[in-house]
Amino acid sequence: MENRTCQNCKQEFRIEPEDFAFYEKIKVPPPTWCPECRMIRRMVFRNERLLFRRKDDASNKEIFSEFPASTQAKVYEKDYWWSDAWDPMEYGRNCDFSRPFFEQFRELLYAVPWPSRNIQRMTDSDYANHAGDLKNCYLCFNAGRSEDSAYLVDGYGHKNSFDITSTIGAERCYDGMSVRDCYQTFFSYACEQCREVWLSRDCIGCAFCFGCANLRNKEYYIFNRPYTKEQYFQELTQILQDGSYQALEAAKERAYKVWRQYPYKYMLSWHNRDATGDLISTSKNVKSCFNVADVEDSAYCQDIVLGVRDSYDYTNWGDMSELIYEAMGVGEKCRSVKFSFDCWPADQEVEYSYRCASSQDLFGCVALKKKSYCIFNKQYSKEDYFALREKIIRHMNEMPYTDAQGRIYRYGEFFPPEFSPFAYNETIAQDFFPLNKEAAIAKGYLWREPETREYQITVDAKDLPDHIRDAPDNIVKEIIKCLSCGKAYRVIQMELDFLRKMSLPLPRLCPNCRYLERIKHRNPPRFYRRRCTCAGSTSENGVYQNQVSHFHGSTPCPNEFETSFAPDRSEIVYCEECYQNEVA
Ligand SMILES: [Zn+2]
Ligand SMILES: [Zn+2]
Ligand SMILES: [Zn+2]
Ligand SMILES: [Zn+2]
Repeated sequence: MENRTCQNCKQEFRIEPEDFAFYEKIKVPPPTWCPECRMIRRMVFRNERLLFRRKDDASNKEIFSEFPASTQAKVYEKDYWWSDAWDPMEYGRNCDFSRPFFEQFRELLYAVPWPSRNIQRMTDSDYANHAGDLKNCYLCFNAGRSEDSAYLVDGYGHKNSFDITSTIGAERCYDGMSVRDCYQTFFSYACEQCREVWLSRDCIGCAFCFGCANLRNKEYYIFNRPYTKEQYFQELTQILQDGSYQALEAAKERAYKVWRQYPYKYMLSWHNRDATGDLISTSKNVKSCFNVADVEDSAYCQDIVLGVRDSYDYTNWGDMSELIYEAMGVGEKCRSVKFSFDCWPADQEVEYSYRCASSQDLFGCVALKKKSYCIFNKQYSKEDYFALREKIIRHMNEMPYTDAQGRIYRYGEFFPPEFSPFAYNETIAQDFFPLNKEAAIAKGYLWREPETREYQITVDAKDLPDHIRDAPDNIVKEIIKCLSCGKAYRVIQMELDFLRKMSLPLPRLCPNCRYLERIKHRNPPRFYRRRCTCAGSTSENGVYQNQVSHFHGSTPCPNEFETSFAPDRSEIVYCEECYQNEVA
């Protein structure tokens, strides 16, 4: 074990023996940035949810793209980009040993055209990005294998659901986050196998519950109190008035108060063995991971799903990939991909590359498909490739790149943030660690004011009918002004049909503001060492009365853990044992 000082934030971070073993196994030097700084460095390379209008640099037609018009790069419409109509090898070049590697990679990166968006196997779902296998979906991002849904962000396996984030398997759900295998579950968080559940958190196997927390296999509960079936529906009608916006907003306030009166588990986790971090499910031996499912023997990963093994510092996607290190947006049967972003599918032994697909043994390449033994988009023989790769790695260490902030990049570092085409406020880093313009610029990030499009607003959200039954059919033709940001949004037909069927009021916020509201319910991926706040018979703050006695008797629980709840947070945070005692 060793403590080192992060090159970026200057804080100490710890490298454990198993970390050293991993670095040795994949033949990389130990990191010089702490896990959090490494994560943010990757995240500034991902614009997940914004689509911009711009020119296609091949056809000159207007397209929409994840890259703003002001990006220096050339962008081709995605289908043309994937075709053989152009050849990325034409941009091939030699390595110049009189200049740093990173500097030359940046030149290649911005010389070779990029695809407008990152989508595959889509049916009637064109308004999407970082997505695959969607059918009849609208404005979905980082989403897959879903149908008849809209405004999905991060997750897969959804049917007829709207405004769902970081979720697996939602059917007829509305506005939820981190729920798994739920049916008709609304405005809920961290629930599993629930049906007809409203405004609840951390409930498992429940049905017909409203405004509850920490329930297991319960039916007909409102604000954590039992009701008869008949009373339940009477009360529910009373509270929600079958689709009133005012009533729903008042109910949300009451429910959030109830949530805070009950203990939160120190981490959200389902069916794991040896896991630390937050939002982890069906994983084994994972350390300081965030929002991952089906991951094994990995550490410092975020937003990874569907079978990943032996990987560190890996952000976004997964899908049967292994030995991935310092990578972002890599997935679908990739193996041994390092220091790369948006490389998929089936890449092997790929380093320092961008948008390469089905390739093997690449170093410093951009936009190659089905190639091997290439460096800077130039073909080599197998022997020459390995010899030159070794020579470049030595060169990277002898003549490192220094970025605008004075940080040094040798072999083993991900790309400097200044190589990203995105402004900080366009990326997922802003979702987790929001900065204002001044702070972002001071840290050396780009900042771009959001595009303002001139839409003729036809109705202000504050003038929408309170009750869904009063929503006219032509509401789908209106351009609505968002209550929060003032930008224009629409209600689509499929959404209106759903809201009417489920007796839900029209949304007053645009999809982006709805997303930002939703993610307030989860903690960012930053971890703290803390002690359990169970004081014996009550929570430390006296708000929650324990239902049973715990192993530590009437004295405070001695258990410590790593948690995403910052020490100054007011929630009641219980360790695994105390929490399980209370929910059993
Ligand atoms: Zn740091
Ligand atoms: Zn808005
Ligand atoms: Zn405890
Ligand atoms: Zn306890």
